[in-house]
Amino acid sequence: MEECIFCKIANGLMPCMKVYEDEKTIAFDDIHPVTPVHTLVIPKRHIPTLLDVGTEEMDYLSAMVTAVQEVARIKGIDQRGFKVVINCNEEGGQVIYHLHMHVLGGRRLTLKDKLV
Ligand code: AMP
Ligand code: ZN
Repeated sequence: MEECIFCKIANGLMPCMKVYEDEKTIAFDDIHPVTPVHTLVIPKRHIPTLLDVGTEEMDYLSAMVTAVQEVARIKGIDQRGFKVVINCNEEGGQVIYHLHMHVLGGRRLTLKDKLV
């Protein structure tokens, strides 16, 4: 946990371009955006992957969905449209093992815009 950079961001120990925050989540801009809007939504609890979401973590997952809605509104892409991506484990392209949702938008997206 101590080495997890998203835990550090969630705990205010590492800076980020914050977009939205509530009791259970924080959202911030990706440092290497692949689309004009590229924001990450993370839970404030260390949950490594989507596979680690059980009954106890479900509150965090639903809070992340609410945070995605807020991010889309804040970024002005809610009505235009956007894509939400969760990468899981190695072949899913996961690099950081703290659950996160990529919120992608700001231009017309295609299937190729899923992250690898
Ligand atoms: P994933 O491949 O799904 O694990 O995505 C990890 C994402 O985190 C990548 O898009 C990175 O650009 C992004 N990232 C890594 N470090 C930071 C950071 N300190 N602040 C913001 N985004 C980051
Ligand atoms: Zn973490």
